Formats: sequence, structure tokens, C-alpha cells
Amino acid sequence: MRAFNFSAGPAILPEEVLKEAAAELVDYKGTGMSIMEMSHRGKEYSAVHDECVANIKELLNIPEGYSVLFMTGGASSQFALIPMNLLGEGQTADYTNSGAWAKKAIQEAQMLGTVNVAADCGKEIPTRVPTTDELNLTDGAAYLHITSNETISGAQWKEFPEHDCLIADMSSDILSRPLDVSKFGLIYAGAQKNLGPAGITLVIIKDELAEKCPETVPTIMRYKTHIESNSLYNTVPTFPVYMLCLVTRWLKAKGGLEGIEKINEDKAAKLYAAIDESDFYKGTAVPEFRSNMNITWRLPTEELEAEFIAEAAKANLKTLKGHRSVGGIRASIYNAFPAAGVDALISFMKEFEAKHG
Ligand code: PMP
Repeated sequence: MRAFNFSAGPAILPEEVLKEAAAELVDYKGTGMSIMEMSHRGKEYSAVHDECVANIKELLNIPEGYSVLFMTGGASSQFALIPMNLLGEGQTADYTNSGAWAKKAIQEAQMLGTVNVAADCGKEIPTRVPTTDELNLTDGAAYLHITSNETISGAQWKEFPEHDCLIADMSSDILSRPLDVSKFGLIYAGAQKNLGPAGITLVIIKDELAEKCPETVPTIMRYKTHIESNSLYNTVPTFPVYMLCLVTRWLKAKGGLEGIEKINEDKAAKLYAAIDESDFYKGTAVPEFRSNMNITWRLPTEELEAEFIAEAAKANLKTLKGHRSVGGIRASIYNAFPAAGVDALISFMKEFEAKHG
């Protein structure tokens, strides 16, 4: 039996995708080999790679002049690669601090250049993201970096700021809603939440930006290298790209990003309504910034939270524990998380409250 898996990442994948991958795992389309046993430059893998890029371009309606890259090192390595490639000598980069992940991006950039924190949501662990009108931007900044969805606090940007070079860490909400890519210079996301298994990082970059990279940056660390080689400069993690390709097909069949957004909004709205109609559960994120992906809340005591998590696991509702830095409850309901799992969680919450409230 499949669990209702609320893990924040690596996270649940569509069951149909897992079954399809299982069916062709040992013998890929009659070749007598697994897709992960083949050359990354061979005919079969190339078709998967190119389809994956094409599907992402189609889903996000990516305009001309942008490249879709598969890189390694997780979103964390992008925290360093972005300033290495794009923060020129004597320039400043603007960053918003909205929580744990934004803070990590800021710390890496500070090692490499001058950073202005354009908005700081204050607390050690913020429960909202900044609004576009509270940004204190630097004239001529190399770029503005935001974290579109803070996976730990469960706060999400609903409207993006206008900027000549907007960069977003979309690790926990990429492909969950339609997006105007032309408003961004660079978007990146570790795959292990909304895209596929861990091991690749999706990067969408405006090609002209890659020209800014200083000569001193090593070849493998330059965006230009990966653009020019179609992400095949070195051996790309072929199996994660194959899985991502299957996920993009699945998303297209769900009605693309408009279709999945509607499903995501419905799931999240139901869960927030269940939290709000009770005095026992208290939502963590500031309501107007509530994430549709990571839903966070508290119970009256930590003891009750521990019991809630343990009892839920027995009812097949797995991995509801909040991030270790903040505690509480976190339900990550990414694209692949089934609506039936949200309904099951809400029923469980009502029973738990009736017993303990
Ligand atoms: N950014 C965000 C918003 C994340 O949620 C995470 C992972 N939880 C990261 C960055 C770090 O990603 P990775 O582990 O792929 O480096």
C-alpha cells in the first residue's frame, strides 16, 4: 500500500510515473538495457533529454533566448554559482531574506561579493515573505534574488517584483502554477520536491546573462558551458532526467500548469479551512502569504504535536513532522500529492481534536 507521504523532500512522486519507470527499468524499449545503463550521448537517452527540455519549455511557455539546464549540486550549489557568474566586480546584489533558505543564499553570496539585504522579514524564522513595495533596492544591482516559496515556514510569494534581473529559488514550488518566465533572469530548483528524484537541479536562464561570467570561473561552474553543451558537458544524471521527463508528461496530461494550479489550490484551501475552523490548530504562516505547497501549523503543546505525528503515521499519514529548526506540523502537498491524502488528513485532524481538544 502506498503511504500518504507528506515529506518536504525528497518527496512523493506520481504513482503512475513510478509504475511506468518500474515497467521499463530493466529493459528500456526493447534495448535489453536500463535507461541508466546507456550512454548519455546515445540515441535513446538523447530523445529523453530533448523531450524533457521541450516539455519544460512548453509547460512554462518559455520564450526564445532562454535555456533549460540540468545541473548538479542541488539548489545549494546555485547559491554559490549565481554570484560567481553574475555578480560583477564592484557591483552589488540585492537579496530578500524570507527565511532559512534565503539566508543560506545570502551567506554564500556574501563570501563572493557585496550583498544588500533589500528586505528582511525580521525574526529568526520568518513566517512571511516580503511584499514588492517594501523592497529597498540598489540602483544598478547585478540582480535581485528571492526565494519563491520558503519550504520550512510555509510562506510563498504570490506576486513577483519587477526587476531587470530577477532571480528566484523555486525549489519548492516550481511547476506548481503558471509563471511568466520573461520576468526572470534565472530560475532554479532542486528536483526532489516537485520535479523528480534528487540528483539534478533545473536551471532556466536568460542566455545573455551567461555572457557576464568572469574568465576566472572554472569551466564546469559557468552557465555558458552548460548552455553551449545542452547540459551534456559532463555526464548528466541520466536517470533523474528520465524521471523528470515522465513527470513533465504526467503534468501535461493534468492540463499543464493551469490544471495543476487549480488542483493545488483546492488541496491547500481545504487544509487551511480545516486549520482555521478549529481553535485547536493554529496556522504558522501569515495568511496572505500562505504556501500552497508546504502547510505549517501548531497544536497547543509540543507533547500533543508529537502524539499527533505518531498517531497520524499509524493512520498511513506519514512524515508530518515540521522542520527540526521550527517544530510543529508540516504537510508538504506538492503536485504529486493526491487530494485523497488531504481528505484523509482532515478527517484525522477532526478525530484527533475531538479526542484531545
Ligand atoms: N532552497 C529551498 C527553497 C529548499 O527547500 C531547499 C531544500 N529543502 C534548498 C534550497 C536546498 O536544496 P538542495 O538540497 O537541493 O541543495
